[in-house]
Amino acid sequence: NFNLAHFTQSAPSIRECPPEAGAEVAFAGRSNAGKSSAINTLTGNHKLARTSKTPGRTQLINFFDLSENTRLVDLPGYGYAKVPRAMKEQWQKNLSEYLHERRCLAGLVVVMDIRHPMQEFDTMVINWAVEAQMPVHLLLTKADKLKKGPAQNTLLQVKKSIKEAGVDDLVTAQTFSSLKGAGLDTLKQRLTGWLLS
Ligand code: GDP
Repeated sequence: NFNLAHFTQSAPSIRECPPEAGAEVAFAGRSNAGKSSAINTLTGNHKLARTSKTPGRTQLINFFDLSENTRLVDLPGYGYAKVPRAMKEQWQKNLSEYLHERRCLAGLVVVMDIRHPMQEFDTMVINWAVEAQMPVHLLLTKADKLKKGPAQNTLLQVKKSIKEAGVDDLVTAQTFSSLKGAGLDTLKQRLTGWLLS
């Protein structure tokens, strides 16, 4: 039940996250892609991911428990111009480590604005996950910003590139709209599959 999600803690680095137990699903995405809105829509709590928007907390990893054994993890947004280069590099190293070493991580959702999918850093994150044999779900959000035809076209193109890269066994994709709640059932199904497997 995603509606039970509640904030439990923030961690400045992967090293300081809660002990390995149960299963978690992490959310990554460029700043402003719509990650907080997607988490809020998923959990039906429009204040939940605001925590991660608090100045000074933008670089923290936020944990939201769903139950004693399952949780959502909100990773810091990437591609944020104001973040110093050294911090960016540290974050990349952290994320890569997290994907490779966090054994309770069941899957990664990569949130992308449907109007600008598969930017350089998105592709890098997807590649790290695939290297780590981590399942990935691409959430093409703000689908309400496009007409149905162009939205479906973008989804098809993204799916084609997944297939061409030979990673369609690990990577799935869908359109989504936090504004309209469109695609919510599909997202819940994918996450439930990860958390219960
Ligand atoms: P984050 O930085 O990735 O957490 O992005 P936010 O969730 O804060 O969203 C960034 C901006 O996009 C905000 O102004 C949101 O209101 C808007 N936004 C997010 N999701 C949607 C959506 O599905 N549809 C529309 N139209 N706007 C959205």
